[in-house]
Amino acid sequence: MPETEDTEPSRTEAGNNDRTYVHIYAEWCKGCAICVAFCPKKVLEMGDDLKAHVVHPERCIRCALCARRCPDFAVTVLDEELVSVGEEDDH
Ligand code: SF4
Ligand code: SF4
Repeated sequence: MPETEDTEPSRTEAGNNDRTYVHIYAEWCKGCAICVAFCPKKVLEMGDDLKAHVVHPERCIRCALCARRCPDFAVTVLDEELVSVGEEDDH
């Protein structure tokens, strides 16, 4: 089954969506579009305000490439698995 076009794109003033795991701090975003370029699922798009916006949160696979590539640390990806990386017991 195709996984695209489930919902209408949704934009807010801050460029975020309540249902997304991706949060963009608009005040820190300088509009370089690196996150948009690296997102494999096209979750992000640049807005007319030259800030990155989460337009397809339902597509996000929480790979965190956007957060890792952002030179201004303006992207946060919420994911328990990512948070726990490096904290596993090593018996
Ligand atoms: S976590 Fe991955 S899929 Fe989700 S917005 Fe970032 S780059 Fe795209
Ligand atoms: S990579 Fe960071 S600074 Fe560049 S557009 Fe994305 S959120 Fe903004």
